[in-house]
Amino acid sequence: MSFKVKREPVRSSWYLPGILVGLGFTFKKMLQNLFNQKKMVTLNYPEEKYQYGPRFKGNHVLTVKKDGSLRCTACMLCATNCPADCIRITASEHEDPSVEKFPISYEIDILRCVFCGFCEEACPVDAIRMGPEWQTAALNGSEFTYDIRHLAYRPQLKGGVPSVLDDQERHSAGI
Ligand code: SF4
Ligand code: SF4
Repeated sequence: MSFKVKREPVRSSWYLPGILVGLGFTFKKMLQNLFNQKKMVTLNYPEEKYQYGPRFKGNHVLTVKKDGSLRCTACMLCATNCPADCIRITASEHEDPSVEKFPISYEIDILRCVFCGFCEEACPVDAIRMGPEWQTAALNGSEFTYDIRHLAYRPQLKGGVPSVLDDQERHSAGI
């Protein structure tokens, strides 16, 4: 059995014209980006960071009451609804009898999180929100487990994010 080899014309195997066209395009874009940086479609990360809108579901925040304590009542609804099973809460009784319980430990394993927002939607008291922060880089494994100190009091939150529930309570009391 014999095979016939179909030979392409020699001109079609010249790669040089295509390479030159590609290099020319790259060079043209390089000059455009050098002399007209406002039109660049990319950002100079990390010096420039993209600002997502307020509806973006980024890093979690545990909100606080007016006195700065956690709004969370340790009801476990967020952990129960989390499809990635990445929320761990340890509840404790509160010394104030008007507060049923509160979390002495609240941790999110951010490497397991899929940023679905179910925890935020499940929370009945606006105690957990997902904000516009999206950077989760860290240097060692333990930094990927976000604890209460990180979730509620990290420096970027400037003392804590107030829960909307407090505002509603104040509004309904006519204060
Ligand atoms: S965003 Fe989704 S996966 Fe992440 S902690 Fe909340 S419920 Fe779990
Ligand atoms: S964050 Fe909300 S849903 Fe989760 S335990 Fe606290 S109060 Fe419950």
